Amino acid sequence: MALAAGERIAFVDGRLVAPDRPIIPYIEGDGTGPDIWRAAVRVFDRAVELCWKRKRRIVWKEVLAGEKAFKETKNWLPQETIEAFQEHRVGIKGPLTTPVGEGIRSLNVALRQKLDLYACVRPVRHFPGVPSPVKEPQKVDMVVFRENTEDVYVGFELESGKEETKDLLEHLLKKYGWHIRPDAGIGIKPISKFGSQRLVRAAIDYALARKRKSVTLVHKGNIQKFTEGAFRSWGYQLAKEEYRNRVITWEDSGGKPQKGKLLIKDAIADAFFQQALTRPEEFDVIATMNLNGDYMSDALAAQVGGLGMAPGGNINYESGYAIFEATHGTAPKYAGLDKVNPSSVILSGAMMLDYMGWSEAARKIEGGIEKTLASRKVTYDLARLMDGAEEISCSQFGALVCENMEE
Ligand code: NAD
Repeated sequence: MALAAGERIAFVDGRLVAPDRPIIPYIEGDGTGPDIWRAAVRVFDRAVELCWKRKRRIVWKEVLAGEKAFKETKNWLPQETIEAFQEHRVGIKGPLTTPVGEGIRSLNVALRQKLDLYACVRPVRHFPGVPSPVKEPQKVDMVVFRENTEDVYVGFELESGKEETKDLLEHLLKKYGWHIRPDAGIGIKPISKFGSQRLVRAAIDYALARKRKSVTLVHKGNIQKFTEGAFRSWGYQLAKEEYRNRVITWEDSGGKPQKGKLLIKDAIADAFFQQALTRPEEFDVIATMNLNGDYMSDALAAQVGGLGMAPGGNINYESGYAIFEATHGTAPKYAGLDKVNPSSVILSGAMMLDYMGWSEAARKIEGGIEKTLASRKVTYDLARLMDGAEEISCSQFGALVCENMEE
């Protein structure tokens, strides 16, 4: 009944235009997904209501993927789900089980590839009071742009000992003189100029729009010259060609950032991991490839209190398609226990509201989360690490965020 009242989000001249009653498809998720979704959707609706009374409201449309989809349709990722995300452009999802041995590598990867959601955007910052393994977690304030469609994630792999693997090894030896052990498995790592530059462009646009200080290209180009090294070169080339007056590269700056200009620099991945711990304040927006980005997003999230808190979005800035998501997994042993931390999906929803241009509601949600954490009434994962904390359930946490959003 509610759906009839909703409208589609439009995309005009490269910009999203959200109506007052946008239809937003959501996937509840597997395992603890329904628990965190129930807590989160109340927070989203309350934030919108507090900001705009009845003028604005999200019209939620459930779409299926994962176990629920398989039970109802015998398909892990039904075509209607993909089409709903295409039709409505912006959506949100909980965690999904990766079906083992079902011919689908990962539903998350499949969704990203089918919608060409090339940028995985993960803001990482510390909320006061959240337990952290480092001394000064408040110094971490980064946004990771991870390329989502290339790299070893394309899944072009051949298994050790198989006929086709032997064929390829023979070809590589004959044609290029490459000696590879005969019992090796082989994977392909494609990194293209197109893929690299559109990701770096998204990171630079984001940094400029939000007046961030720098974009760091993180790569392992000292070893992988024509893939990761090329990513670095293409990134710098794009920055110089398309943003000439608005950015300055580290090399051209003589090591000194210039006022009013966005600094573009790079770091080798291993050094980055070290410095993200020892000097995190030197990093701001990060642009990197798929595998580095996967490791980095989780390592940085751990630095500020773990995956239960970390939000994420997968975005194609050219089509406007975006799916925001809880970044943790399904935590199956807690499914249905109303126990886990819903912050990751709640903060992902705040990112989604920002993306739709409903930033007042996003700020309200962040404020509500901050106040709730400061009260030390938190879910088990945080309670066990916080002095003087009171453990509350997932739904109680959501309700408390709602209360704390009221001024
Ligand atoms: P997981 O994230 O489910 O669990 C890792 C640890 O973190 C567990 O101890 C879990 O209890 C805890 N945890 C996770 N989310 C939490 C939360 N919100 N609050 C408190 N604690 C939380 O990772 P896993 O066990 O490796 O994977 C389980 C399933 O999830 C697998 O099928 C995996 O493929 C899938 N997965 C999905 C996504 C996704 O959909 N984006 C991401 C990662 C894993």
